[in-house]
Amino acid sequence: MIVAQRKPFKEIEAMLAPYKRVLIAGCGTCVAVCLAGGEKEVGLLAAELSIASQIQGRSLTIGEATVERQCDREFLTELRGPVEAYDAVLSLACGAGIQFLAEMYDSKPVFPGVDTTFIGVNETVGSWTERCRACHACVLDATGGICPKTICAKGLLNGPCGGTVHGKCEVDTEKPCAWTLIHQRLEKTDRLDQIRQTFAPGRHDIRTTPAYQTHAAYKRRFEAHA
Ligand code: SF4
Ligand code: SF4
Repeated sequence: MIVAQRKPFKEIEAMLAPYKRVLIAGCGTCVAVCLAGGEKEVGLLAAELSIASQIQGRSLTIGEATVERQCDREFLTELRGPVEAYDAVLSLACGAGIQFLAEMYDSKPVFPGVDTTFIGVNETVGSWTERCRACHACVLDATGGICPKTICAKGLLNGPCGGTVHGKCEVDTEKPCAWTLIHQRLEKTDRLDQIRQTFAPGRHDIRTTPAYQTHAAYKRRFEAHA
């Protein structure tokens, strides 16, 4: 899942200050799970903004709308009516959803209500950890299912770095060394010989952003329209 956290209230207030009618648009998927931008968080922020505007004696009308996913045109279409009815939109989706919303309704000012932080997992209620950097070249088969590019503080593909102390990382001694974890996992699954594998340097020269991909089954359809 994509993990995000809501921006500080003062920052949101400053972005919306020029507008009298604001729609808060939530997303019902990742940001709802990480308690940053789902329907409930939309309601809480709307209440907070409403109270603040009353205290300041400022006129502010707030609309609320949450769709299943803001990273999907099909669901964004549901926002057409609400978006048209307001002067500005505050999106609580991840950065991808915010951009897609802004692209679809490009005559409306769209603002980010959250900071997108990482691709991660739900450790327990209210706690998430980063697990993947979407590198385009997954090595989890050789590293016991532990990502050195994400879990190692230096992102070392050929670790450890030599600074490991009693299995802890030299950069942050509270955290385990990724390569100790990889060693332990490979040993546990009887694949320790793989620790000897060395990786060639990553081809950073061939990667560009933004990335794109088309599913093989859909390639012919897109090529026909190219
Ligand atoms: S190697 Fe790590 S960063 Fe790359 S795709 Fe696999 S999990 Fe993600
Ligand atoms: S101690 Fe381990 S996790 Fe920390 S930087 Fe070195 S190899 Fe990476």
